[in-house]
Amino acid sequence: MAVKPPSASANPLLIQALDDAELGLVWVDAQGRLQHSNKRFAGWAGMPATLDQCFPGLHTGAWSALLSRPAGQAQSLHLGLKTADGELLSTELRFHSLGESPAADALTVLSISPLGDAQLRSAIDLLQRDVLEAVALSRPLQVVMDLLCRRVESLAPDVICTVLAVDEQGRVHPLAAPSLPASFSAALDGVPIGPKAGSCGTAAWRREPVEVADIARDPLWEDYRVLALAYGLAACWSTPILRADQRVGATFALYYREPRPVVPFHRGMVEACAQLCQVALRNDEHLRQIERLAYYDNVTGLANRRLFADRARHDLLISSRQGSPTALLLLDVDRFKTINDSLGHAVGDEVLRQLAQRLGPCLRDSDTLARLGGDEFGVILQGSTAADAMHAADKLLAALQPPLDLPGQAPLSLSASIGIANFPEDGGDLESLLKNAEIAMYEAKRAGRNCARFFLHAMNEALGERLQMEAALRQALSQGCLQLHYQPKLRLADGRTMGCEALLRWRHPEWGPVAPDRFIGVAEECGLINALDAWVLEQACAQLARWQQAGVALPEVAVNVSPLRFYQDDVAAHVGQLLQQHGLRAEQLTLEVTERLMLDDNARTRGQMQRLHEMGVRISVDDFGTGYSSLGYLKRLPVSELKLDKSFVRDLETDPDDRALATAVIGIGRALGLTVVAEGVETAAQQQVLEQVGCDMVQGWRFGHPMPAEALEEWLRQRSTQAV
Ligand code: C2E
Ligand code: MG
Ligand code: MG
Repeated sequence: MAVKPPSASANPLLIQALDDAELGLVWVDAQGRLQHSNKRFAGWAGMPATLDQCFPGLHTGAWSALLSRPAGQAQSLHLGLKTADGELLSTELRFHSLGESPAADALTVLSISPLGDAQLRSAIDLLQRDVLEAVALSRPLQVVMDLLCRRVESLAPDVICTVLAVDEQGRVHPLAAPSLPASFSAALDGVPIGPKAGSCGTAAWRREPVEVADIARDPLWEDYRVLALAYGLAACWSTPILRADQRVGATFALYYREPRPVVPFHRGMVEACAQLCQVALRNDEHLRQIERLAYYDNVTGLANRRLFADRARHDLLISSRQGSPTALLLLDVDRFKTINDSLGHAVGDEVLRQLAQRLGPCLRDSDTLARLGGDEFGVILQGSTAADAMHAADKLLAALQPPLDLPGQAPLSLSASIGIANFPEDGGDLESLLKNAEIAMYEAKRAGRNCARFFLHAMNEALGERLQMEAALRQALSQGCLQLHYQPKLRLADGRTMGCEALLRWRHPEWGPVAPDRFIGVAEECGLINALDAWVLEQACAQLARWQQAGVALPEVAVNVSPLRFYQDDVAAHVGQLLQQHGLRAEQLTLEVTERLMLDDNARTRGQMQRLHEMGVRISVDDFGTGYSSLGYLKRLPVSELKLDKSFVRDLETDPDDRALATAVIGIGRALGLTVVAEGVETAAQQQVLEQVGCDMVQGWRFGHPMPAEALEEWLRQRSTQAV
């Protein structure tokens, strides 16, 4: 059944009723031609021939699409109705057609009701609610703005709505413009804002709304006029949107297809929409900031571990698809902890920033450089062979060579150790590559730092052994399976026993005795050394106190302390507490430290040594001569004793160089008022040379092996009568 217009023959009462209705009613054919209208409608719009004429906001094509929709599908629409005196009246349209698939000659009835303020308000409320919901759901900014534009256009179908982003360089970029022709949008992209840059560019420039009622005439549009008119855009009203930092971040604009000023309803709508745009924009800034925090390191600005992992996984995927290699480099700054501890964290951060700036330029744009945490950096070289990776590692190390310039500090020289793992040989996924690169990095540290090492499978086995040893050592320490042996130190001149050195002994139930040279390094690596050395110090002090009470003639005991313990523990405080607890004098204790510690010119260790010295505890430089050539520290630091390393003692009778060296060390010691002890003395010939060159003290198998406390007491009893 087709809808027909009421004919003259129809019930006059019905016609009267239709004319008097509050609604405007029109009967239109499928092409949008008006066949009939009631008086209410004619009173508003006169006698237009087509829908195009009374609703300028929609084109003919849009009308035919709406009119051909099957019954029941057409919903309501908000459209501006052009009144007889040229005003635009906001209205709501409803479509009424009959039948599932209307006949070609069927008419559609449109009921038109003017939108009152309250209805407009509620329509805007609805729009606001939907857009805020999209913001709350963290939809991408483009999606939110697109939704906003579409909803505005359905509320005010005679406008074209756009949102342009304004970048930091003051150029605009379309964010959303669903009804603007794509080619016009493309032409806007990158246009600079300015005092005469159309409505949007000028609004952004002036930081205030710009209303252009007639693009054809307004001087603001001079440069863009031809373009806009070509796309049928006749008027434009643009409002700037401010970001949190008060910079203009976007513009919200309404275009009209005919020259005209803004109607009041649009003002209300734009007010609401400008606010929505601002909320969406600021929320987007927020999300980006969160993303920056989540994916970037805030000290160096480099990618963080998370982004590194994302990119690495992506690169590995490409590599496995293409059958190409990828290299993973792990770079660890050497002795960074010392810098952090002695110069403070602010300087440490500055060091990391400067390092990051040096590393970046060594890499290609496609490579990923990230700070993985602490002083550890990761590099992914997609497509790089092992040879490429070593080349890159050399470049990175070279870039770190020149000393760093830090505000208020002396130039600081730094180096790093790099471990390299190659995909796919060294691991099929990120986790195994990282693990193996780390093993290789520790190998580089062990090899003396400031170098790069490839991962080798043998390293993995060595690591396995170290881990086993670490576990066993922990157990030994907690179950009391460690022991101290004591080796006497004698004065050459009269053969008197001046003291002894405490040396750690560990007998493993299955492995038998394990030499300190094997397990001390492991303990240093795994952080067990502090507990180990603390235990040794306590035991040695307790033993010395027992000897003192028993009247054993042993003036002092020497204890080895790892440099790591000086960095990490308050050794001086521990020593002070032990001396007091056991009733010992500070002069009875000597701490043996290696040259390594002396050369790390670090405020913390210097302070520790100074405090020990002030207490009266003696500091002895162990393995003297094996370390470095610099001797300046002997003047700066409160050292009392030098222990000539046993490697120089071994060939003393045969090697003139060793003899010269021993002579030189003794000379240095004498000049600085230090005692010189020769360690590892095994033969009478060695002893004789040492006597000739004037060495003060000796220690070695020739006089006594390291032995348990009771054995040393027995040894002392037997020696009390003998000469050296
Ligand atoms: P060190 O402090 O230089 O100790 C001297 C080493 O020379 C000891 O080795 C000792 O047994 C050995 N020795 C003594 N006389 C002779 C000799 O005539 N000929 C030869 N060839 N060697 C002799 P040991 O006990 O194996 O200790 C090795 C290193 O382990 C020590 O060197 C020391 O650096 C470290 N160490 C030992 N105990 C501890 C400890 O409690 N804490 C720390 N941090 N390190 C320790
Ligand atoms: Mg020693
Ligand atoms: Mg030594």
